[in-house]
Amino acid sequence: MPSKSHLFVAYNKCRVSPKILDRARANRALGIVQRGRYFELGDNQRTFAIQSSVDENVYYNVNGTCDCKDYQYRTVHCKHRLARAIILYCQKLETKGANIVCRR
Ligand SMILES: [Zn+2]
Repeated sequence: MPSKSHLFVAYNKCRVSPKILDRARANRALGIVQRGRYFELGDNQRTFAIQSSVDENVYYNVNGTCDCKDYQYRTVHCKHRLARAIILYCQKLETKGANIVCRR
């Protein structure tokens, strides 16, 4: 689970991306991450299983693509892909933070 400050930075970066035309979707993605409705599969593509907000028994496999209808039919950045982008950015921030500590 990312720290609150990392989450805030990652969310803001994601939200202002020109690819994100729908801010409400970015907010829903943040909600998924905050509630911890995901887990990492640990494969080479950094696939995450992210829970559907409609049916809690359904998880979508998300890497460069997503299994959900939003992505399949509208080919937009669905909230699951946004959630993964937020998580990955948080992980990057955590790594960067560790490097800063090491240099001291
Ligand atoms: Zn999706």
